[in-house]
Amino acid sequence: MKLGLFFCLSTIFSVSINATSWEQVPGPTNNISSSIGSYANGCLDGAQPLPLDGVGYQVLRSKTKRYYGHPHTILFIEKLSQKVQQELDTTLLIGDLSLARGGRFSSGHSSHQTGLDIDIWLRLADKPLSYNELQLPTPMSVVDLKNYQILEHRWEDRHFDIIRYAAQSTDVARIFVHPVIKEQLCKEAPNNDRSWLRKVRPWWGHHYHFHVRLVCPKSSLNCVNQALPPQGDGCGAELASWKPKAVLEPSINKRKTNKVKQKKRKVIPAQCQPLISMR
Ligand SMILES: [Zn+2]
Repeated sequence: MKLGLFFCLSTIFSVSINATSWEQVPGPTNNISSSIGSYANGCLDGAQPLPLDGVGYQVLRSKTKRYYGHPHTILFIEKLSQKVQQELDTTLLIGDLSLARGGRFSSGHSSHQTGLDIDIWLRLADKPLSYNELQLPTPMSVVDLKNYQILEHRWEDRHFDIIRYAAQSTDVARIFVHPVIKEQLCKEAPNNDRSWLRKVRPWWGHHYHFHVRLVCPKSSLNCVNQALPPQGDGCGAELASWKPKAVLEPSINKRKTNKVKQKKRKVIPAQCQPLISMR
């Protein structure tokens, strides 16, 4: 099943023969919480688990134990889910956050390393999912990838509202969605309320979930923020440039993935080293 590209593709297996050191740690550290390094090269001290029995959300694939975050992240999810339940009468399905001490995954994500990234599914759970469904969930895309257009029968006003609620939070730095979803948001947003669109950035792969990235908490002194997104709502020429000319998206993904594989392995921040050495 083709679901997107390496950037944010979730996988079932947490430990494999290729498991990284970060996937083999015994659990979070007991230190004061701190996100260290950058989103795609960092780690997480003093992580907090997202409670599995929260209000307004359910946690997907809890067996993989990718539900750790900085306390700001946990609070953000709890607040957003409560609002969604109260105002939209549905339940959010929460995908991967970070590993118990953050760090690199053997598969699935290049970011999600500092406890500040969250995947939230676009499939809304109007009825709670059973344990088995949560462990092996069926994704629901809202984009017709071949024809590069929104699937009208799946896209709802509630999707618009949920992404808007998230983007309006001052804790949020960026939200990644498929460019077709960004086009849809651009089309629907009223003229007098478009500033939040700046944070919603187009990126391949995010058509069955969106990815929320929080800003570095002020107390995390070694956390590296990304530069701010470009000025404006991002609905103009840049967004149009994402539209494939003749080549369809899967081929583009393949090409990009191959290119990324040739990249050099990054050197992890010095402050992260003790987290993998410490049992
Ligand atoms: Zn993600």
